[in-house]
Parts: sequence; structure tokens; C-alpha cells
Amino acid sequence: MAVLDTRSTDDLTDEALAALGARFETASAAEIVAWTVERFHPQMCLTASMTDAVLIDVAVAVEPAIEVVFIDTGYHFTETMETLEKVRRRYGLNLRIMTVPHYEVPLWQSDPVNCCSPAKVFQLERALFGKLAWMSGLRRQESDTRRQAAIVSRDSRGLIKVNPLATWTDLDVQGYIDDHDVPVNPLLMKGYPSIGCWPCTRPVKAGDDPRSGRWVGQAKTECGLHDEFAHDGSDEFGAYEVEQV
Ligand code: SF4
Repeated sequence: MAVLDTRSTDDLTDEALAALGARFETASAAEIVAWTVERFHPQMCLTASMTDAVLIDVAVAVEPAIEVVFIDTGYHFTETMETLEKVRRRYGLNLRIMTVPHYEVPLWQSDPVNCCSPAKVFQLERALFGKLAWMSGLRRQESDTRRQAAIVSRDSRGLIKVNPLATWTDLDVQGYIDDHDVPVNPLLMKGYPSIGCWPCTRPVKAGDDPRSGRWVGQAKTECGLHDEFAHDGSDEFGAYEVEQV
């Protein structure tokens, strides 16, 4: 049986988180990760999409044993799975892969509007069980809907959510990748600046909104993993009976 940590985050009031966030606006990503690790490790994790390994590179330099979570929806591009393996080997990750039950008819075909709920959101819920905090590589420049992303906040579960790269520009990311020879998903060089599952991701033209290739033709703009942002509201958690695997 999982043992829940009894440490409290009650001292991290809205006011305390706002003050921390203000301080982190000018802090380096490594400093933000260090605060998160010092405060929460090992009752925390880092979620990775395998678009690139920038946050992983920063984080494992602070704490090599940090838990890295990858949600394998079963619908990823081959390039994404190859990047996962490359990153795992490069960093010797404490990697936790969340897998999804097999559906005879793929969910993206039978119910594309709600597919993200069992394939992504429920897997994140499982990954976060027993945790106090989590980190993601979300950045404000990724899309208009993410412009106001907080560096540190309390999510709808009551966990502390940290986005150490929130203030990074695309140039910052590319510079870090070049300087540190960080593995990247080769789809980035093929017109996919935002990489999700293959049924729902299209390449975009240079200069277009980087996330405009996601869920083309649907109202959805977010999968629901980052629940501080609006999506189409259809991914009601619990819409499916999902066997825990
Ligand atoms: S991105 Fe598409 S295929 Fe992937 S979980 Fe969401 S709806 Fe399903």
C-alpha cells in the first residue's frame, strides 16, 4: 500500500506562493528546481513530454534521483518513443512510464473529444498519487493561453505545481539545447513545435502559433494535464472506467 507523506504544505498560502512566484521571476531554472527538490523530494516528480530534455537536464543536475514521469498514451509518434529511450540512456533516469489500458477501438477514433481523459489525465492522477508537488516544462511563450502561467502555484488537487521554465523564450530553450547538447525530438525539425499524440498533431507553418497543430478542427486547445488552463471542458475525469495498470 502506498504511504502518503504527512508533511504539510499548509504554510504555502496563496500569499506565500505569490511571493515565491515573484522571487522566481528572476531566478534561474536551476534555483527554482533546487527549491522544489529541497522542499519536496522524493514526494515530487517531473512530467516530461519528450519534446526536448531541457528541464530534465536542469533537474537531474540538481537531483539525479528525481522521478521523471512520461505518460505513454499508446498513440505517440515513433520519434517521441525513440527520444524517450535516448533521454533515458543519456541521463540514467529514475523514469516512471504510465501506460494506458488497451482499447479494441482506439479512443482517439471512438471518442476523440474525451480521449485525453483516460489516456492522459487519469494517468497523471495516478502518477501524482502520494505526491506533494510536481514540475512541468510548460512555458509562457508556447501559446496565448499560457501567457499567464505561474511559476509556482497550487493546482486543483492541492499539490504544488512548479514550472521552472515558465519565463524561458524559444531562444532561451534553443540556446540551452545547443550549449548542453540536450536531446530533442526530431519532429521539432520537421515542423512540429508542439508534439502530442500522432492522431491529434499536425505540422505547422513557420510563424504560426506553435500549438495550432494540436487538435486541428476541434475546440480543444489543452489536454487537461495543466488544469489551470481552459480546454473544451469535455475531458471530465472519470468519464471512463479505467483499469489501473
Ligand atoms: S492527444 Fe489525441 S490521441 Fe492523445 S490522448 Fe489526447 S485525444 Fe487521445
